[in-house]
Amino acid sequence: MHETWHGGNVDILISGALVISPGEERPLVLPKGDIAVVGSETVYVGPSPAPQEFRSAAKVIEGSGLIALPGLVNAHTHAAMTVFRGFADDMPLMEWLTQKIWPAEARLEADDVYWGTMLACVEMIRAGVTTFADMYFFMDETAKAVERTGIRASLSRGLIGSAPGADKALAEGRELCERWNGACGGRITTMLGPHAPYTCPKDFLEKVMEVASELGVGMHIHLSETEGEVKECRKLHGGMSPVELMDSYGLFEFPVLAAHCVHVSERDIEILSAKGVGVAHNPGCNMKIASGIAPVPKMLKAGVRVGLGTDGAASNNNLDLLEEARIAAFLHKLASNDPTVLAAPEALYLATLGSARALRLEAQVGTLERGKKADIILMDSTGPHMHPHHDMISHIVYSARSSDVRTVIIDGKVVMEDGALTVVDEKEVLARAEERAQALVRR
Ligand SMILES: [Zn+2]
Repeated sequence: MHETWHGGNVDILISGALVISPGEERPLVLPKGDIAVVGSETVYVGPSPAPQEFRSAAKVIEGSGLIALPGLVNAHTHAAMTVFRGFADDMPLMEWLTQKIWPAEARLEADDVYWGTMLACVEMIRAGVTTFADMYFFMDETAKAVERTGIRASLSRGLIGSAPGADKALAEGRELCERWNGACGGRITTMLGPHAPYTCPKDFLEKVMEVASELGVGMHIHLSETEGEVKECRKLHGGMSPVELMDSYGLFEFPVLAAHCVHVSERDIEILSAKGVGVAHNPGCNMKIASGIAPVPKMLKAGVRVGLGTDGAASNNNLDLLEEARIAAFLHKLASNDPTVLAAPEALYLATLGSARALRLEAQVGTLERGKKADIILMDSTGPHMHPHHDMISHIVYSARSSDVRTVIIDGKVVMEDGALTVVDEKEVLARAEERAQALVRR
């Protein structure tokens, strides 16, 4: 829901920028456009100069030399895992998890999650990410970091149904939803986070679905990430794939955000499409852990709601969604031996509207449009790597750097202005996160 503007003073006017916004069919491109913001809402996107009623603004941002884009949407991450960035790399998945990540995660404290998430939020804002979907624990701390930094997020408490304490975790997941769903003027939304089919047995998923139905929230899950996981599932469940199994349990009757979907069959893709399941594609992580290549072009063709995610910083190792869009385009061209696959406009779509649709937030974010939330980023188009100006969408995907993002507006608030964060002390965040991370690996 958004308030509707009935005239009156404009809070922010971006004037004379190159405006680019993805669409379902083709992107909107205004060589010289204006954007007006009132409160948390975008009230005008159109040619410059905007009509008179939008021109008296409290704050005017001169847009020449800048590209205005909708904020990027990171459809899957574990923000606090920034504390594990570079802590363990280049290892096989199970060894990495059992010898390094899980023992270290068992030592995590609430403050580690808070400062790790603060670091992640600073990193994402700098990279033009204005919304992220997160699954982890100590989620109250994550929510506090989201509240503090002004970013938008969809939060879920990760649930391992097969572990001791599963019911306590589910109770925490419920509390997170009750306390934070719709908080910060709607900037925070919540889901339940059953970790994966192989860690959540049927009776536990039934309890999760009961809570989801009671609270009216969706679910965030890891699905078909590795070949081994799919083989094991088919062996244990009468030949059913993880997608088929979750469908048979009725999970997809709820809004579901499924991370990875690397090893999915034609039948799986049909189910994902028919049930409107959101898929978070994490190509950087899938490549680094050597999980495989998700059939993204096929899923898009079948109408699946595909978006882009970075996954956690322990397996990526950054939260740079622009880089992820480039990796996705390169990966799928190579994998299909076809350079026309995942063209630049499509890669940009995945990082914005595609991810917004995967999170079911497309009515609020993902495009620059009147009536949507004012989540807007301004990117410098004057660097040497951005010239000549033949095709700026191509430059955004194939040539730009996340450091080209100069100004970030989220929910109508300027959270970064010309390269400087305005709402948090960045130096303090970096120092505190560094301190927590160093102590954590020695604990
Ligand atoms: Zn993940």
